[in-house]
Amino acid sequence: MLIQKTIDASGYDDFDGHENIVYFEDDATGLQAIIGVHNSNLGPSFGGCRIHNYVKFEDAITDVLRLSKGMTYKSAMAGLPLGGGKAVIIADAKTDKSVDKMRSFGDAVEAMAGSYITAEDVGSTDADMITISEVTSYVSGLPKKENALGGNPSPYTAKGVFYGMRAGLNSALGTQSFDGVHVVVKGLGAVGYDLCRYLDKEGAKLTVTDINQAVLRKAQEEFRNVTVVDPISAHEVACDILAPCALGGSINPQTIPDIKAKLIAGAANNQLQNKLQGQRLHDKGVIYAPDYVVNAGGIIAVGYEYFSYNGNNPFDHEMTQKTLTGHISRIEGTTRDLLVRSKDDNQPAGDVADRMAEEIFLK
Ligand code: NAD
Repeated sequence: MLIQKTIDASGYDDFDGHENIVYFEDDATGLQAIIGVHNSNLGPSFGGCRIHNYVKFEDAITDVLRLSKGMTYKSAMAGLPLGGGKAVIIADAKTDKSVDKMRSFGDAVEAMAGSYITAEDVGSTDADMITISEVTSYVSGLPKKENALGGNPSPYTAKGVFYGMRAGLNSALGTQSFDGVHVVVKGLGAVGYDLCRYLDKEGAKLTVTDINQAVLRKAQEEFRNVTVVDPISAHEVACDILAPCALGGSINPQTIPDIKAKLIAGAANNQLQNKLQGQRLHDKGVIYAPDYVVNAGGIIAVGYEYFSYNGNNPFDHEMTQKTLTGHISRIEGTTRDLLVRSKDDNQPAGDVADRMAEEIFLK
């Protein structure tokens, strides 16, 4: 039976006035999940479902708090009428995921009564979203039907990262062209690999790393100018751009002194271990294109999918594949604007992005 319990997370450093944190447990399926709603000023909270084998329960709460807050800022900067939410399922996605468990998670989403809408994140797939959709309609990122919008968000995320990276490239190197630009991509998963495809096509020189050897072999076969390095030392490579596309926290006091890139722009959520690291990068003269601004392509796509599925268009334009891709392409202008403001105000780009987002969702 599914039981739910509200969690008082006010003692956590990352609490930030979250509206609601709920823990769900189901003995029958082994589900242990936490759903967090950070802020719903702009609309229902929206964010993916991460499946991860957290060492401690507190780590799972911290992840929900940080990730759901990030979604509030991401949707605001992406021009979406959505709030910020996120779910985590405490389990090993490879060995400890089942259809019953995902259905039980769907029941948990349904119990949030529309205050939280779920989609894919690390560890969950579009097949999981189908299972979830059997018990709740508060789900997006379902496999794309013919002529429908949305589907797996990763390709859209990759395209958005590419646009955001191009704005950063302009700011860091004064060029729009990736020809000969050296990019280190850490994490060749659903997003990182597609990002490499765009960069390869534009003539970039790639250095890639992953813990999955098979994907590295594939990259070596597919891309023209690619070098493979060890994940531990990827950040030390002398390059133009570092693109963190694995998990968060890779920009930290241990890695920053060795970073030689002029620009950091990638897909991973919460790349900076904390806010202080943004100031450190700024002081070092490294431009940081804020993660939640450049990786918003996926939320824009699943947002369009969700609105069109429900016949509820909140925009002043039609929702078509063309307007969806147009919306994602605006990530470039948003990133450019905030990097200009960061330079003009001599403030870390992450702080500027936060202020810009707050001007939108707190007004
Ligand atoms: P994914 O699980 O498909 O890919 C992650 C890749 O990183 C895998 O290939 C994995 O082997 C690799 N990896 C893990 N640990 C590593 C390490 N220590 N060193 C090097 N490689 C490592 O995930 P994804 O969907 O590609 O997402 C990547 C990141 O982007 C995540 O942080 C995710 O939260 C974020 N993100 C994804 C989307 C999306 O649409 N998928 C949207 C926004 C943000």
